[in-house]
Amino acid sequence: MKRRDFIKQASIGAVAASSVAAPAIVHAGKKIRWKMVTTWPKNFPVLGTGANELAKLITKMSDGRIKVKVYGAGELIPAFEVFDAVSRGTAQMGHGSAYYWKGKIEEAQFFSTVPFGMNAQEMNAWLYYGGGLDLWKQTYEPFGVMPAAAGNTNVQMAGWFNKQINSTKDLQGLKMRIPGLGGEVLKRAGGTPVNLPGGELFTALKTGAIDATEWVGPYNDLAFGLHKAAKYYYYPGWHEPGTTLEAIINKKAFNALPKDLQIIVENACKVVNQDMSLEFTAKNNAALQTLQQKHNVDVRKLPDDVLAKLKALSHEVVLELAGKNPAAKKIYDSYNGFYTQVAAWHDISEKIYFNVR
Ligand code: CA
Repeated sequence: MKRRDFIKQASIGAVAASSVAAPAIVHAGKKIRWKMVTTWPKNFPVLGTGANELAKLITKMSDGRIKVKVYGAGELIPAFEVFDAVSRGTAQMGHGSAYYWKGKIEEAQFFSTVPFGMNAQEMNAWLYYGGGLDLWKQTYEPFGVMPAAAGNTNVQMAGWFNKQINSTKDLQGLKMRIPGLGGEVLKRAGGTPVNLPGGELFTALKTGAIDATEWVGPYNDLAFGLHKAAKYYYYPGWHEPGTTLEAIINKKAFNALPKDLQIIVENACKVVNQDMSLEFTAKNNAALQTLQQKHNVDVRKLPDDVLAKLKALSHEVVLELAGKNPAAKKIYDSYNGFYTQVAAWHDISEKIYFNVR
């Protein structure tokens, strides 16, 4: 008998017994305690609080049968060790984004975001209806980890700069915190990408250890106080047009759950995936107004020739990644095929509508 079947049988038996004997003991025995480690500072707006919401939702939807305790970055393990912790079962769940694990699984970056690639709506459509989620699951399978989309930042800002970007020359020598494929693009443009967890950005920027940093968008960036550490706030977030945040679940822990709890965990992720995206949409503009009007932030658009250069380099970087191994090629083909067809539709729907409304 499989372990989960055994547990199911045992709990059915226990419920029957509980109606005549000791319900409190039986009830206590059924509770499952999970730990969720995150790459975000504890209670950080939307990202950290979204992870908190996910934990609460799993507990509420399961009527307390699973309790998930959330740990902020550094509480149990450092931010960038979340994947390993979930893989080895130190924690049953994690919350972060796939590009943080590029040192281990380079092709995982496709599941976060691709520079000049799909936005949140398109990315979710690929994941749920275009085969993306299945490929993501296959990618993490060898590590005993199961992914779920659990949040999206929508289009980000290009970031906070202490140097003006007036031409492609200004990218040369630029030391910037920028993770994932965007970092590789900056490197090819002559810059020096640095990867730092969110909690270290303010100090690095303030002390001049880096010239620039991207983070998320106005709502999150205001909360970090990044306007107190840099002069210029550039848009658009070419490097992160719709970054998927992920929940990762230890496969053994997931398989040990009865079927209904598995469905609850997966669907709680789906709810939070949508909810975080909505919260960003709802709150970014007010934060931007605060940054501009209260803190006199200098908001600027990246020059067109800079964006054109970054776009050309992005294509190079993505194609190279696709060429690295058959797994990367398979994901790229799926991503790119979906992007091409969804973009064709969006060219005459969303895009046109944005321009005419
Ligand atoms: Ca970012």
